[in-house]
Amino acid sequence: MRKIVTKFGGSSLADAGQFAKVKRILSMDEARRYVVPSAPGKRFKEDDKVTDLLYRCHAQQAAGEDYQETFDRIAARYMDIAEELGLKTDLASALDEINEQIAAGASRDYCASRGEYLNGMLLADYLGWQFLDAAKGICFDDHGAFLPEETNQRLGQLLIGGVPTVVPGFYGALPDGSVHTFSRGGSDITGAIVSRAVNADVYENWTDVSGFLMADPRVVEQPREISSITYKELRELSYMGASVLHEDAMFPVHKAGIPTNIRNTNDPTHPGTVIALDMPPETDTPTITGIAGRKGFSVISVEKAMMNSEVGFGRKVLQVLEDEGISFEHTPTGIDTMCVVVEGSALKAKREKVVSRIIELTGSDVVTIHDDMSIIATVGRGMVHNCGTAARLFSAMSAAGVNVRMIDQGSSELSILVGVNDRDFETTIRAIYKEFVL
Ligand code: ASP
Repeated sequence: MRKIVTKFGGSSLADAGQFAKVKRILSMDEARRYVVPSAPGKRFKEDDKVTDLLYRCHAQQAAGEDYQETFDRIAARYMDIAEELGLKTDLASALDEINEQIAAGASRDYCASRGEYLNGMLLADYLGWQFLDAAKGICFDDHGAFLPEETNQRLGQLLIGGVPTVVPGFYGALPDGSVHTFSRGGSDITGAIVSRAVNADVYENWTDVSGFLMADPRVVEQPREISSITYKELRELSYMGASVLHEDAMFPVHKAGIPTNIRNTNDPTHPGTVIALDMPPETDTPTITGIAGRKGFSVISVEKAMMNSEVGFGRKVLQVLEDEGISFEHTPTGIDTMCVVVEGSALKAKREKVVSRIIELTGSDVVTIHDDMSIIATVGRGMVHNCGTAARLFSAMSAAGVNVRMIDQGSSELSILVGVNDRDFETTIRAIYKEFVL
C-alpha cells in the first residue's frame, strides 16, 4: 500500500476556498492518507496569522488585559470556514472550552497549539477523515526535548492500518500530558515525524511556492527552481540562510530515507522540488544546485610564530569562545595564523575580552578582528569530482571585481564557501549565478 503524508501550510488552509483546494489535491491520489495541517495563515498581506493572534491572547491575558477582541477575531476565522463549508463540528463548544482555558491562565504553548488543533478538527470533518490529537502521539521529555523514538513507536501504533487521518501540526505533549509546541513553523516537523512513523513513500510539503529557488529572488532576478536536491545539499543551503522548510523537519525523513516533495497548493500540477537521500545517477545533474549566503560575520585572526607546530593551540583559541558562549562557524588556518569566523552580533559586546583572553591563553603575537564579512556557499553534488568548478567560480568573482577574503571547501566537495566584504555580497551571488546557470 503506497502511503503519502501531506502537510499543508498556513496559507494553504487560510480560508474555505483554500480548504477546497486541499480536498481536491487529496482526492487526486488515494495514497494521500495522512494530512498534517498548520493553523490558518494570512489571507492577504496585512492579515494576521491565527498563531500570532493566539500568542497575543495569551500575552494579553497574562498582562491582565482584555483579550476578548483578539479571541473573537480567531473564532471568526474558524466560524467563517465552518459556515462556508457547511461543517457540523461543534465549533462553538470547542471555542468556549479554549476561551475558558485561556481565562484560567493556560500555558503559552497550549494557547498557540489550538490554532492547529481547531484547523485539524475542521479539516477532518470536511474530508470525513479520522482526527488524531497530536498530544496523544508526539512526545517530549520533562525539559521539552523531543523524544523521537518514543514518538515513532506511539504514532506508528496509533496510525496502523492506513485509515485516512488528520494529525494537527506544531505540538505534542510533555510526560504529564500538558501541551508542548515545537518552535515556529513546527508543523513541518510534525509532517516529517508522521512520515517516518507510517513509513511513507513520500512526504509532501504543500505551501505557496513551487519549491526551492537556486538563489534568493531579492538578489537574483527570477532565479530558476531547483527540481531535485539531496538532504545534504539542502542542509548546506539552509545553514547559509535559504529557508522554505523548518530546519528540524529534515532529520526524521532523512534518517528514514523518505523523500520530501515541496509542492504548491495554488499550482498543484507543478512538480515542485524533490529532496532525497541520493539522486539516481542518470539524473541530468547541473554543476551547482543553489547559492546561499549570509552577511554580518566577523573574523578573529590569531597570529603566532611557529603556531603550526604547537599542540593545543587551536583548542585554546576555541576554549575562549566556548567560555564566552560564542559558537564558531569556520576555522580556516594558515601556517602561523588561525582564523575563526563567528556571527558579528554574537561577538559584539565581548570583543575586547575575547581578544585579551586569547592573547593571555595562547601567547599570540597579534589578534585582529575583521568585521562586516559575508559568507556565500555555492552548493552542488554536481561539483564532486568535477574539475574546474573552483576555477570558474573564482574567475567569475574576479571578473566582477570582487576580492576573495576567505575560501573554505569541505572535503565532501559538496560546497565551496567564500568570504567577501558585505558590500560585495550581492555582486558575488549574481556573478556565480551568471557563470553557472545562465
Ligand atoms: N502555526 C505555527 C506557526 O505559525 C506552526 C506552523 O505553521 O508550522 O509557527
